[in-house]
Amino acid sequence: MKDTLKHRGMRNKLAEILADKGIVDHKVLDAIRTIPRHLFLDSSFEAHAYQDKAFPIGADQTISQPFTVAFQTALLETQPNHKILEIGTGSGYQTATLLHLKTKVYTIERQLELFKKTNIFFKKMGYRPKKMIFGDGYKGLPEEAPFDGIVVTAGAPFVPKPLMAQLKIGGRLVIPVGNNDQIMTLYIRKSELEFEKMEYGSFRFVPLLEDKN
Ligand code: SAH
Repeated sequence: MKDTLKHRGMRNKLAEILADKGIVDHKVLDAIRTIPRHLFLDSSFEAHAYQDKAFPIGADQTISQPFTVAFQTALLETQPNHKILEIGTGSGYQTATLLHLKTKVYTIERQLELFKKTNIFFKKMGYRPKKMIFGDGYKGLPEEAPFDGIVVTAGAPFVPKPLMAQLKIGGRLVIPVGNNDQIMTLYIRKSELEFEKMEYGSFRFVPLLEDKN
């Protein structure tokens, strides 16, 4: 598959749709206009890649809906060079969005099949996260902490304590919390012990799964 003017036109339309749905962050909309989402999907979905919808990516997982990616990314309020931890690499589309914002991305995936596939895809595309880890996101990445931002891209039944502990003071954790539906939740670390919590509407994610071992 190639990236063509036609794809670019569809991306521009998608960015307009997301702006209409309330995404105001220009850098995030610019990422949507730039990243060739159709290349993150199986070729059978090419015609639909720029609809604001989630699609299957194998191993029972989905690429998040563009609105969701844009919403979560905007809540992170990243600055260039921020250290960001992503839980749930999946197709890598959210990772690519964070890289477009010039952040240093550490990303964890627990499905070996997806981990391998996306690893190869990133090399082919020239996307360079700082680290891609095959492992359990519930534990975060203590050896690289603290982070300016942590984004969880699967539905968490509860907020894993290690993720809170791995935030910088001033850092942001964006996590959908709940079982069937999730409430998008933002925690901002105010001090060693204090966190501000904000909630933003209902979303639906595949579940953040506990370690298989
Ligand atoms: N960010 C991805 C979203 C993929 S869906 C994208 O843009 O495509 C969520 C992903 O989280 C899935 O790939 C799933 O395998 C992964 N996941 C689920 N539980 C996990 C865990 N405990 N640790 C790391 N990844 C997990």
